Amino acid sequence: MEVYTASITMTICIIAVPKHVPKMRKQIVAGNWKMNCTIDEGKRLVSEVVQLMQNEIQNNAEVIFIPPYIHLTNLSEQLLTNDTLYLGAQNCHQNKSGAYTGEVSATMIKSCGATHVIIGHSERREYFSESDALLAEKVNTVLENDLTPIFCCGERLESREVNTQEAVVGEQVRNALFHLSTEEIAKMVIAYEPVWAIGTGKTASAEQAQEMHAFIRETIAEKYSNEIADSISILYGGSVKPENATEIFSQPDVDGGLIGGASLKSRDFVDIVKAFD
Ligand code: PEP
Repeated sequence: MEVYTASITMTICIIAVPKHVPKMRKQIVAGNWKMNCTIDEGKRLVSEVVQLMQNEIQNNAEVIFIPPYIHLTNLSEQLLTNDTLYLGAQNCHQNKSGAYTGEVSATMIKSCGATHVIIGHSERREYFSESDALLAEKVNTVLENDLTPIFCCGERLESREVNTQEAVVGEQVRNALFHLSTEEIAKMVIAYEPVWAIGTGKTASAEQAQEMHAFIRETIAEKYSNEIADSISILYGGSVKPENATEIFSQPDVDGGLIGGASLKSRDFVDIVKAFD
């Protein structure tokens, strides 16, 4: 029996594959009106935005108007024929119905024609003492009603100053979202909003935003999977303006913005949407 020794030359190519391969995530610009606008002012603002968008916007970003509850029904009629414009609420109660004077349920929001609900805005956390445990319940009720939660997280200035921002945001995400199933978490939109940048005119730098968005994605990937983490849109919020939107939105893990003050000015809001053109 002859024994042959084959000499095999192998070429090994090592290709650097990034841990998270960017996927086609939804690009989103959501305007949080907070406690602003009468009925007439709201109608006017939306018709100006719609008009400017029709004339000027080339991209397919989802644009979400998030007014006070009283506007939802009117604006839903106003936006009826538009398929990239959506409507959201700024909050909802965790229970389905009952004796909760002054509150509004997710079912009621849905019946107005809205599709999204902000959960855990820092103003709700601060002025209405909303805890992570409560926010977890609110996320559940929003999902049960086939609405999309826009879950807000973000550190206060004190945390940023001592470099504990990732610990704080990681805990907010884990506490309010990690009870969700894979199918449920995949339906979330997350908004990173550093508290020190909201309504203050101070914006996180594009690098700070990217760093935290990548961290949030990593945190979700560890619990669920890279695929799920890569599919979730993560928005940045905190003094976004036409002047800084392009740089912030062009970061690889930033999929759009949650806009407060600038969403009340049609020209500024549309210029922010234009950052995706
Ligand atoms: C907000 O309300 O979520 C927000 C980001 O506000 P502003 O853009 O005014 O900082």
